[in-house]
Amino acid sequence: MKEPIYRWNFQALIAVVLCVVLMPIPPAGAVSSGSATPITIPSELSELWQQLQHSYLYLFHNSPRWHYRSDRINEMQDFLKKARDHCQNSYKDRIHQADSQLKETQQQLRQETGKISDAERHEIHCRIQQLRKTRTEDQVLADHAIPIAYENKNAKLELIEQWPQDVKQIDAEIANGSYIHRRWGDVKDIGFRVIASGQQDDIKVGQQAVQQMKQSGIMPPVVKDPTVVNYVDHIAQTVAAHSDLHVPLHVTVLNSKEINAFSLPGGYLFVERGLLEAADDEAELAGVMGHEIGHVVARHGHKLMERATIAGIFYQAAEVAAMILTGGIMGIGTYYALQYGFYGLGLVLNLKLLGVSREFELQADQLGIQYAWNSGYDPTGFIRFFDKMATHVGYVNGVGWFMDHPPFYTRMVDAMREIMFLPKKPRYIVTTTAFEQMKQALKKVTAKAEENEKNKPSLYGPEQGCATTQPANYKPGEPIEKICPILGVENVKPR
Ligand SMILES: [Zn+2]
Repeated sequence: MKEPIYRWNFQALIAVVLCVVLMPIPPAGAVSSGSATPITIPSELSELWQQLQHSYLYLFHNSPRWHYRSDRINEMQDFLKKARDHCQNSYKDRIHQADSQLKETQQQLRQETGKISDAERHEIHCRIQQLRKTRTEDQVLADHAIPIAYENKNAKLELIEQWPQDVKQIDAEIANGSYIHRRWGDVKDIGFRVIASGQQDDIKVGQQAVQQMKQSGIMPPVVKDPTVVNYVDHIAQTVAAHSDLHVPLHVTVLNSKEINAFSLPGGYLFVERGLLEAADDEAELAGVMGHEIGHVVARHGHKLMERATIAGIFYQAAEVAAMILTGGIMGIGTYYALQYGFYGLGLVLNLKLLGVSREFELQADQLGIQYAWNSGYDPTGFIRFFDKMATHVGYVNGVGWFMDHPPFYTRMVDAMREIMFLPKKPRYIVTTTAFEQMKQALKKVTAKAEENEKNKPSLYGPEQGCATTQPANYKPGEPIEKICPILGVENVKPR
């Protein structure tokens, strides 16, 4: 901390490192003619392909009864690689085309300056603006959304191949009682055991970090609607009361469309509006909140601060700041900055740092599942939420985050294993009328936020009054096949 001027950066960054549940791509327009040329799946793979469309939970339950030959699995692996490369290359081609069109248009602007009318100049500005926008969106797809969508498919294939063996092992551990001796297997002592001592020592650091986050201007506004705020607080406090948390939990709902939640050391939980919008039931929310509380309980923030170097964080911050200042073609950092404000940018800055927390994510997953279960919730809520995020292109875009995280297969299998080890309860809460009431109240909050956003001048489009803005190639929530069609299978089957 030699450089006090960067202090807030450090703290704020650590804050977001603690937990980024998921980063979405912002909503955009309808599918345009921009999708890739279709590729055809070999007919012998089409049945296995259909299986990959199922949810993780479905695969966990059903794959032990399937017996796919290993050459079929290998063939599918090859096909997935081919399909991913094809999809990615189509988008890279589009980026190259946009680059040369941009160059041409900018050249034209330079050459004809002084000769053209204001109206013509306006038209050229609009064209440049549109090209930049499309290019950035395509880059997000090529660099982030496409690889993640295919990593998710690969994880499901791995599950079909390996889970039947894994589940036998798990059953054996349950039968011989050895599962009790797993890390934090003492679930009957939740609240009375020690996960990491000294939680209260983090309160001061957390308070400071919250303060610095507020001062830095990266924090989105706070949601004030009492129905939403009280509901979120109630669920979080319920989960906290059934966890190993020994410090007071402070819950804040942020008015941002990011599908995200994060926690600061010492019990500061931030839940973003986008996360509430994306959740389909209360058990999903409880799973995510349990995960965040798990980070606080295990004092991951404290541990990360010991490991992260301020120089490393500052280097990344400078890099992204430079991208913004130089303008022109936008990188992913700028993209988030413009879409979400600096808070989103903060997330982008931390992607590399998140790499150090793979193990912490798995730990928080395990604790979170235990806490949701101990609060009476269906513990599979966490898996369902994760699955939804990873499967649909609209949710996973831009998530370099996913890359630095534990491999999907490990994460999902570890989560499922923990659920199987937990003592069964006669019934679990999946959702409540309070959840539905929160969703209703949230609609109004969202509508108002969207209205405000419309009136805000956008850095994304400094040239005002352009005739038409081309919609992006995807809609949030759509599967990857929508932008890269596969022939020979039923595409985009409802799930
Ligand atoms: Zn996390």
